[in-house]
Amino acid sequence: LVARMRPFGTTIFAEMSALAVRTGAVNLGQGFPDTDGPPEMLAAAAEALRTGQNQYPPGPGIPALRAAVAAHQSRFWGLEYDPDGEIVVTAGATEAVAAAVLALCEPGDEVVCFEPYYDSYAASIALAGAVRRPVTLRPTDDGRYAFDPAALRAVFGPRTRLVLLNSPHNPTGKVFTPAELALVADLCREHDAYAVTDEVYEHLVYTDAESPHVPLATLPGMRERTLRISSAGKTFSCTGWKVGWASGPGALVSAVLRVKQFLTFVNASPLQPAVAVALALGDDYFDGFRADLQARRDQLVGGLTDAGFDVLATQGTYFVTADVTALGGRDGVDFCRSLPERCGVVAVPTQVFYDDVEAGRRLVRFAFCKRPEVLAEAVTRLRRLS
Ligand code: PMP
Ligand code: GLN
Repeated sequence: LVARMRPFGTTIFAEMSALAVRTGAVNLGQGFPDTDGPPEMLAAAAEALRTGQNQYPPGPGIPALRAAVAAHQSRFWGLEYDPDGEIVVTAGATEAVAAAVLALCEPGDEVVCFEPYYDSYAASIALAGAVRRPVTLRPTDDGRYAFDPAALRAVFGPRTRLVLLNSPHNPTGKVFTPAELALVADLCREHDAYAVTDEVYEHLVYTDAESPHVPLATLPGMRERTLRISSAGKTFSCTGWKVGWASGPGALVSAVLRVKQFLTFVNASPLQPAVAVALALGDDYFDGFRADLQARRDQLVGGLTDAGFDVLATQGTYFVTADVTALGGRDGVDFCRSLPERCGVVAVPTQVFYDDVEAGRRLVRFAFCKRPEVLAEAVTRLRRLS
C-alpha cells in the first residue's frame, strides 16, 4: 500500500456496522435509513431496468437527470446551471468530492476543511498528495458547534487551493450561518481559492435551525468558484444507489469529468431516470421528508437526554452528537466499542473525524434516520446505562 494511504484503516462506518451485526445491537452508527424512498422513484427504476436502460449512459449522466438536477437547484436555491456542461453525475457525493480534489489540487496544495470532517475528505486529499488544513468546530456553552474566525483566517495561505465545506454538517448537525458562510466566501475571494461544497443534507434543515440552508454558491462572487455537490442518497433514502452530482462553472465541471471518466467512467444507468423523477416530486414530498426526520430527531434527543447523555443541539442532517462525560465516559472510542455489550446499541465516536483528537475525545454520534420503533428500542436499551 502506498505511504499516503497507510494512515487510513477500515472506515469507522464499516467497523461499527460489522460490530452491530456481530452483536445484534441496534445500529445507530452508520447513517442509512431503514425504510425505502418515494415509491414513484422505485417504480421508475424498475421500469428502466425492464425497458432496457442497462448499458453505459453518457459520461456526464443522462440528459433527463442533468435537466432534473438543474431544475431542482433553480427551484430550491435560485441557482441556474446549464445541464449541458455545468452538471456532471457521479457515483454518489463521495466520487464527486474525490474527483474534485484530484482534479483541482497539485501535490502540496492545501485544502481548508472543518473538523470533525466526513472521513472520505482526508483520504481524497491524501490521494491527491494535497495537505488538509482543518479548522476545529467545538461545542459551545450553549450546546452548539462553532469555530474561531481567527483560526479560519489563519489556515488560509498562499498554498490554499480550495475549501471543502459540508453544510448541513455531518457529524455535528450544524448548519453554517449566513455570517459564517460570508467569512468563508470572503476568504475564498481574498485567496483566489475554489470552494467545493458538500450539500448532501440540503433538505434536512429543521424548522428550529438558526438559519435555513444557504448554498455557498449563492453568495456574491462565489458561483464562479464553487463546485456544488449533492446526492440522491439522503434526500430520497437510497444510500445504496450512489447517484450524486456536481454543479459549477463549465471549466470546473469539465475538470471533474476528466478525472471521473477514469475513476468510474459512468454510473448506474437505470437509477438515473429514477432520480430524475424523484427530484421533480412536489413540495409535499420534501416538506414531509424533513418533518418526518425532525420528529425522529426529537424522539432520539428526548430519549438520549432521559438516558443521561449531555446532548448537543442538532439543526440538520441524520445525526445528533452527545458528550459521554456525564455517563462516566472518558473516551468516545472506548465508549462506542463497549456500548453493544453494555446495552445493545451501536454509535460512532466523533473523535475519529478530528485531527485534534482531544477536541472530540468525549463526543459520540447517533443516527436518527431509523423507524420510530427502532429508536424507541434503542432508547429503552440506552436507559440501562444510568
Ligand atoms: N458527504 C457527507 C457529509 C455524507 O454524510 C455522506 C454520506 N453519508 C456522503 C458525503 C456520501 O454520499 P454518497 O453516498 O452520495 O456518496
Ligand atoms: N454518510 C454515512 C455516515 O456518515 C455513511 C457513509 C459510509 O458508510 N461511508 O454515517
